[in-house]
Amino acid sequence: MKRQMPSTREIEQEIVGRVKTMFRKDFEMATKEEIYRACAEVVNDVVIDNWLTTQKSFVQQDPKCVYYMSMEFLIGRLLGNNMINMRGYTEVMDALDELGVDINEVEDQEPDPALGNGGLGRLAACFLDSLATLQYPAYGCGIRYHYGMFKQKIEDGYQQEVPDNWLQTRYPFELQRTEYEFEVRFGGWVRYDSQPDGTTKYIHEGYNAVIATPYDLPVTGFDNGMVNTLMIWDAKPKEVFRLDSFEKGDYSRAVEDMNLARNLTEVLYPNDNHIQGKELRLKQQYFFVSASIQRALAKYLRYHKDIKKLPEKVVFQMNDTHPTLTVAELMRILMDVHGLGWDEAWEITTHCVAYTNHTIMSEALEKWPQDIFKRLLPRVFMIVEEINRRFCDEIRAKFPGDEDRVHRMAILADDQVKMAHMAIAASYSVNGVAALHTEILKNVSLHDFYEMYPEKFNNKTNGITQRRFLMHGNYKLSDWVIKKIGRGWITDLSQMKKLESFVDDKKSLDEFMAIKLDNKKRLAKYIWEHNGIEVDPNSIFDVQVKRLHEYKRQLLNILHVMYLYNQIKENPEMDFYPTTFIFGAKASAGYENAKLIIKLINNVAAVINNDKSIDDKIKVVFIEDYRVSNAEWIFAAADVSEQISTASKEASGTGNMKFMLNGAVTIGTMDGANVEMYQELGGENIYIFGMSSDEVIAHEKNNDYNPVDVMNGNHHIQKVLQQLVNGNYSIDNPELFRPLYNSLLNTQCTAKADTYFVLKDFASYCETYEKIQEAYKDKYKWAKMALENVAHVGKFSSDRTIQEYVDDIWHLDKLDLK
Ligand SMILES: *Cc1c(COP(=O)(O)O)cnc(C)c1O
Repeated sequence: MKRQMPSTREIEQEIVGRVKTMFRKDFEMATKEEIYRACAEVVNDVVIDNWLTTQKSFVQQDPKCVYYMSMEFLIGRLLGNNMINMRGYTEVMDALDELGVDINEVEDQEPDPALGNGGLGRLAACFLDSLATLQYPAYGCGIRYHYGMFKQKIEDGYQQEVPDNWLQTRYPFELQRTEYEFEVRFGGWVRYDSQPDGTTKYIHEGYNAVIATPYDLPVTGFDNGMVNTLMIWDAKPKEVFRLDSFEKGDYSRAVEDMNLARNLTEVLYPNDNHIQGKELRLKQQYFFVSASIQRALAKYLRYHKDIKKLPEKVVFQMNDTHPTLTVAELMRILMDVHGLGWDEAWEITTHCVAYTNHTIMSEALEKWPQDIFKRLLPRVFMIVEEINRRFCDEIRAKFPGDEDRVHRMAILADDQVKMAHMAIAASYSVNGVAALHTEILKNVSLHDFYEMYPEKFNNKTNGITQRRFLMHGNYKLSDWVIKKIGRGWITDLSQMKKLESFVDDKKSLDEFMAIKLDNKKRLAKYIWEHNGIEVDPNSIFDVQVKRLHEYKRQLLNILHVMYLYNQIKENPEMDFYPTTFIFGAKASAGYENAKLIIKLINNVAAVINNDKSIDDKIKVVFIEDYRVSNAEWIFAAADVSEQISTASKEASGTGNMKFMLNGAVTIGTMDGANVEMYQELGGENIYIFGMSSDEVIAHEKNNDYNPVDVMNGNHHIQKVLQQLVNGNYSIDNPELFRPLYNSLLNTQCTAKADTYFVLKDFASYCETYEKIQEAYKDKYKWAKMALENVAHVGKFSSDRTIQEYVDDIWHLDKLDLK
């Protein structure tokens, strides 16, 4: 039986009681943090009962489970989310209100578990939310990084990275499970042992071992009593190293084991869409993959004898290539531990693993040097060699005489292990994350593989959870939608189309825009408190928040702001609707150009925000430390959503969907899921500009784009580019932004210039932007457009995405929780 949250009165008493027993304090003396911890336990109590019930149903019903394998889970804060899913948010809010405490301040005490970089990790978190809400049995498998994504401080306009020690104090939603510990081995060598029956046994020796300990986090479904599990793995040395009692010969091994365990789960690599070929990263990958598979198999074998039937109960979905070792590790365990032969093991493995591709950009494709791989994972490497040998034979059989093709597709080539190739060779499903992205995979980047295995390829357009990104982040709009069309949309977002009946009703549009204004005031207050910048909630809030990457083209956005500022200065009487340009973005710590773009945005902000002559027509704000918790408020307050990546580069995007859900109007390129937003909305309700992906891909192929020609033909671009290097935005050091100038033009050397076609799309961007300015002046026209966005967002729920994964790839049954 589903357990419900208690009443407001009971919650109030429980909070007071918990504060007393946990902290030996009267409520009046408790700190905000202590109140947060008390609230967490009140909610946990309900969650745990439902978790127990769910796990009992697992045992009784023995359903097939998906193991979602991901290096990242950007889950965001759990207190608010769990209160919403347990249907007790209002009750806790009222209880706290009675006690004279603001629920936002309480929620603000929770660290934001930043176990991910950006879109990929957030997708994994949205998927877990949807799986639980749709009642599908699922485990998330990841890593318990001690330091998640760094905290970003802006000092003198520069990004500074500060460690995020989110586990400094106990995290109330995790549960250590020492009963599910497993050993993971690195290094050493492999000894062959011929058996009397003619087979060979492979014995791994001389390795370093760590113990993997899982910490389970509850993943609550919405109002259904379902609680799935996210297991994040931590490492500890195999034997606790005691200086006073060590065996003589084992001293150095004990030290090695301890250091290995210490480093393994220390940090998340802060790269988004870019690999950093560090050995420790490969160790992290093997560590969580091996531990997760061991736990999955142990669970399976508790109730089943026949390992060959594993695919009936278990599927591993690999979120990008990071967990691709799942393929070789499952093979290893099936053969070396369970004694299966190659063919039997391969049959099982290839029916248990599926792969999601997240990018076509070459710098993000994982390749490991063979020597490092072999030294670190000697037995696994042998298995990869055999997978590769058989795979190459299969290619030769299908395309006789085409050795070029074999070389292009091989898993082992050029002294590297190509993880995507292994993932595709072994997976029974390979999916892209938006329609356009999947077409590009099939026709361009993975064309060879598509010709080999056309039946494996399929599309699963990404989605987001409306529970977090509307109900929690924008409760005012959420309540308004409930008033207008009821509650069905909470678990069936397609019902938002019922809002169509209000798009021409002025009273409804007034209400709708009044909520937007309230959300803008909430964000304006946040900006005032965090940036000391006063922004006008009646100005257009134009927002670009996402990881800082050249392909996402924050540079195009800020160059356009510089252009608009020039226009207003030259032409003070010009008709311009006051606009606040809001940015938020973390740059990978080693990504120089990205960090310089952050500095440019901040310097442009400093100049424009302090220019009294433009009458506050433009304000520029860089919000520090963009993360899930402040993202929720930012989406709620946006009028305009900037989705301006170079066409073909953004696999899907999910930020675009969160803005749409919150009634922002998009200006964007025909890239990623923007294409499908355009299809859902019609051309009236979205502003599309720039080159198509076909045009971009053709220019790349023909190598015929010259940004200097574009600059020479457009004096606005010339002026803006000059201002990059004439000290206009950097009086002390006019050369500061020269690297950005060079990346766009590169007049002197041979390196490619303007790889992401910023200048090429500039004129089109400016032109399209003018239409937004025009449209906003017509209040009801704008309100209608914004509401049309909410009404057509249905497709972009992760509930829809998950149902497609279930129907086409995983074939799960819903758990019966009655
Ligand atoms: C949704 C989200 C992202 C992904 O945004 P894109 O615009 O799709 O790149 C990144 N970070 C956070 C905190 C998010 O919530």
